[in-house]
Amino acid sequence: MNLILLAPEDIEDRRQARVRDPRRLRHLREVHRATIGDRLTLGIQGGGIGRGELVALDDEEACFTLDAMDQPPPPPLPVHLVLALPRPRMLARSLEHVTALGVKQITLLHSRRVEKSYWQSPELGEQKIRDHLVLGLEQSRDTVMPEVSLARGFRPFVEERLPGLLAERQGLLAHPGMPSPCPRGIDRPTLLIVGPEGGFIPHEVERLLDAGCQGIHLGPRILRVETAVVALLARLF
Ligand code: SAH
Repeated sequence: MNLILLAPEDIEDRRQARVRDPRRLRHLREVHRATIGDRLTLGIQGGGIGRGELVALDDEEACFTLDAMDQPPPPPLPVHLVLALPRPRMLARSLEHVTALGVKQITLLHSRRVEKSYWQSPELGEQKIRDHLVLGLEQSRDTVMPEVSLARGFRPFVEERLPGLLAERQGLLAHPGMPSPCPRGIDRPTLLIVGPEGGFIPHEVERLLDAGCQGIHLGPRILRVETAVVALLARLF
C-alpha cells in the first residue's frame, strides 16, 4: 500500500479522512508501522493525491488530517485489455498486475478453452473484482479505478462489440507462433487480446484476425497468462 486510497465515504470534510476497514488498519500497523504524527501518501478515489498526517490510530480507525490533495495520478496506458477469463487465482493476480501497470479498460472474454465453471466463481463478484483493482491502485499510487466488463460469449463479442472497439484503436492479438513480433514503445490507442491458459483455438484466431486484429508473438517461450500480460504491456508501452 504505497498509497492509502480513500473512498468518498472515508472523507469527512475536505480535510479529515477516517479509515475503518480491518485490511487497511492492519497494513498501517504491520507494514507501515505507523505512529501518530507520521505523514503518509493518500489519494482520493477518482481524484488527486497528497499527504496526510496520522492524528489518531486505534483498533477501530485511523484518522488523517489531509494536505491539499492536488497531485494528479500517473497517466493511464492507452490500452483496452481483452483477457480470456483465466482461472480464479490467476484472474486475481492478473487484475492486480495490469491495474498497477495503468490499464483502465478490461474486458473478460469467454472462449472455447475457458472452463465454463470459471464464470460461476465468486472472484467475479463486483466487490471481489474491486478488491483486486484497489490493491493494484494502492501499489502503483493511482486513484482511477479501471472499468471491467464481462463478455460471456465469444461470438457476440466478436460480432457486436469488437468492430466498435477497433474503430478507434489498433487491435493486437497475442498468440504464440504469429508472424510479427510484439511491437515496442508504441503510444497509439490499442486493443490487446490475450488468450486463455490453453490458448485460443484456430477458429477463434481466424475470427479475430478477420475482424482486423494483427497477430503478434513474444518469441518462442510460452508464458503463463499473468506473465504474458505483464510482458506484453511492458514491451508495448
Ligand atoms: N497453450 C497455448 C498458450 C497459452 S498461453 C499454446 O501453446 O498456444 C496463454 C496466453 O498468453 C496465450 O493465448 C497468449 O495470448 C499469451 N502468450 C503466452 N506466451 C506467448 C507468446 N510467446 N507469444 C504471444 N502470446 C503469448
